[in-house]
Amino acid sequence: MAKYAGPVCRLCRREAAKLFLKGSKCYTPKCPMEKRAYPPGEHGQGRHKISEYGAQLREKQKARRAYGVLERQFRRYFTHAARARGVTGETLLQLLERRLDNVIFRLGFAGSRLEARQLVGHGHFTVNGRRVDVPSFQVRPGDVVALAERSKGLARFKQIAEQSQQRTIPTWLELDAEKARGQVLRLPTREEIDVPVQEHQIIALYSK
Ligand code: SF4
Repeated sequence: MAKYAGPVCRLCRREAAKLFLKGSKCYTPKCPMEKRAYPPGEHGQGRHKISEYGAQLREKQKARRAYGVLERQFRRYFTHAARARGVTGETLLQLLERRLDNVIFRLGFAGSRLEARQLVGHGHFTVNGRRVDVPSFQVRPGDVVALAERSKGLARFKQIAEQSQQRTIPTWLELDAEKARGQVLRLPTREEIDVPVQEHQIIALYSK
């Protein structure tokens, strides 16, 4: 599966937004966005007039990078959202939030979506008791996501209960830290999705 392998902090600076791609570093003063919140490169601090198309493109890239999704897959999400009932922008964000790697991150089992994606790929999680190793797997309301039994003894998962106390678990999810499992209570509303993206710009871009 193809994925971006370059320096991830550059992506946050490019999008002028904290995308939380680096795990614990993102929550410390060491985050480059705390000191250099301008685009990377020689002309990063210069003034830039951005076109309407440019603004739309930036919003799409920001959403894509925040969730670690490649262009083709992102467009598939848009097509799916555009065909579905309801508000396209909200449905698009819900599809991204419903990805298993995102849910693992939201529940505090991983420090970033990138790490969650790797953990899922290595088969450390189950959905409704069955092992799922596909990061893009779409969870549904009622699904129970849990750390696989054989992974519970691993050192990296020992701190889950402690870590999760430091994280804010979204209200559409419920975590049982002691049992290392969480449940999807319902789909998130737009207000509950904190990724700083203007989805109407993405709709405008793809509707051309
Ligand atoms: Fe890097 Fe995280 Fe800061 Fe983004 S939020 S610049 S990934 S440390």
